[in-house]
Amino acid sequence: NDEQFKNVISHAKEYGFVFQSSEIYDGLSAVYDYGQLGAELKNNIKSYWWKAMVQMHENIVGIDSAIFMHPKVWKASGHVDGFNDPMIDNKDSKKRYRADQLLENKIDELYSELANFSTENKAKFEEFQQEILGLSDEGQAAWIPGFKEEVSILDNAKYPFVDEASWRFVKKGLVLEVEMNLALKAENLAQLKDLIVDYKVICPISKTSNWTDVRQFNLMFSTQFGAMAEGSDEVYLRPETAQGIFVNFLNVQKSGRMKIPFGIAQIGKAFRNEVIARQFIMRMREFEQMEMQFFVRPGEDKKWFEYWKEARLKWHQALGTSPDKYRYHDHVKLAHYANAATDIEFEFPFGFKEVEGIHSRTDFDLTQHQEFSGKKMQYFDNDLNEEGKPYGNYVPYVIETSIGLDRMFLLTMINAFEEQDLSTEDKQDSRTLLRLHPALAPYKVAVFPLTKKDGLPEKAREIMDALKFDFNCIYEEKDAIGKRYRRQDAIGTPFCLTVDHQSLEDNTVTIRHRDSMEQERVAIADLTNIIGKAVSW
Ligand code: ATP
Repeated sequence: NDEQFKNVISHAKEYGFVFQSSEIYDGLSAVYDYGQLGAELKNNIKSYWWKAMVQMHENIVGIDSAIFMHPKVWKASGHVDGFNDPMIDNKDSKKRYRADQLLENKIDELYSELANFSTENKAKFEEFQQEILGLSDEGQAAWIPGFKEEVSILDNAKYPFVDEASWRFVKKGLVLEVEMNLALKAENLAQLKDLIVDYKVICPISKTSNWTDVRQFNLMFSTQFGAMAEGSDEVYLRPETAQGIFVNFLNVQKSGRMKIPFGIAQIGKAFRNEVIARQFIMRMREFEQMEMQFFVRPGEDKKWFEYWKEARLKWHQALGTSPDKYRYHDHVKLAHYANAATDIEFEFPFGFKEVEGIHSRTDFDLTQHQEFSGKKMQYFDNDLNEEGKPYGNYVPYVIETSIGLDRMFLLTMINAFEEQDLSTEDKQDSRTLLRLHPALAPYKVAVFPLTKKDGLPEKAREIMDALKFDFNCIYEEKDAIGKRYRRQDAIGTPFCLTVDHQSLEDNTVTIRHRDSMEQERVAIADLTNIIGKAVSW
């Protein structure tokens, strides 16, 4: 899997999808540039989202709000006080870590060890489990992976540990002392992981390394607004696009005469000073979000949460991804503003990870902005309730769908990337293929003259000039045809058209299909129809 992921990353660079930012200066950590094909793919993902959310829903409109916002916005939203990650530094190596991620990695590591348990280890483990059983009033066993001597329970006073327990993971010289809220009903570690809904790292200790204390680190970037001499103000680069929607709620509702339920969508950049950034474009410091806030009547929030949960998974699956690559991860412990939350997770080469969040945010954000701005954030609902009276004034409840465009891009690349062995008995052969949904492919059509003479290039140009009004096309006359096909396979172009001598006589071309590699002869006049059908969704 690691190998496959590395291949995707180098493929992305080799063909102009993603480059490291400022590469000639050795790059800037967790910042990336999209190249000529990456920009196309990214635009196509955006357009697929925008069409599905805005164009297909009469009651959803899209906006484009500024990255800079009044500093009070981030006070009201809770980001100034609470948008923190716990951070620790290793004084020896001078490396910085997210304390919660260290713990997660540890659990992952232990989990993979559990999978490799030999019978002998398993017996030892069961012995340990028995011991735990004896301690628990509930009689529930927790499958805490690791051996007796490697896991010790710190605080006996906390038994029975149905709700809370302190554990010390001792592994490879590093000790993380953690306090977790967990219900120890787990039958295996996968479940256990889901049950660890909240934890904080109290203090890291290590036999071999020297760690700083854990401290809270705010993830917002700030900068100075206005000329220094005038007394400048500190402003933030937005860490999410959602707040631009909340503060425009009334502007859009009034100017667009929107009736509840309705949604406001937006695609835009967000910035987070991530403590550690890893896994290519999975976690970046500058990234893009596609968010939609759906405003509903209080009391109808649960219903709409379920609606969007389902609708968003369908959006993902409409691209043809195998359903078992996706799963929901319902949050057990909720953020203070939410009354329901789920993640849509995709199975990346490094495991199931969040791509999109669906959150039922109650009236938290609008109420906060009402309080901090002193402006009423209410909606007058003149629909009639069960008693035949208008619902009247209220602060709407909100369901949010929030997807990371870059993560969706990575998911799309990983899912499409395939190295195919095409060897036959007499010949070794292979190809690299990007099996992108045609609607997402950077180029829809490649047009090739079979040779560079006899008027074939002119004919090919003529065909391309007609098609380019409808489709992004690429013209290629260099190299042998087979080689040209392979290059288009590698960048995901669903169709290649070859113009040969027969084309001059009867106005037909061969069309070659990327996935099946099949070729057929079709009339030039039918091309727009054939390609058009395939690239729509
Ligand atoms: P994570 O737990 O992975 O940090 P999050 O829960 O903080 O994500 P949200 O605040 O819910 O993420 O943001 C919504 C979406 O934005 C995420 O599902 C993800 O796809 C994307 N996203 C968040 N942070 C980043 C980042 N640093 N780089 C790229 N995409 C991101």
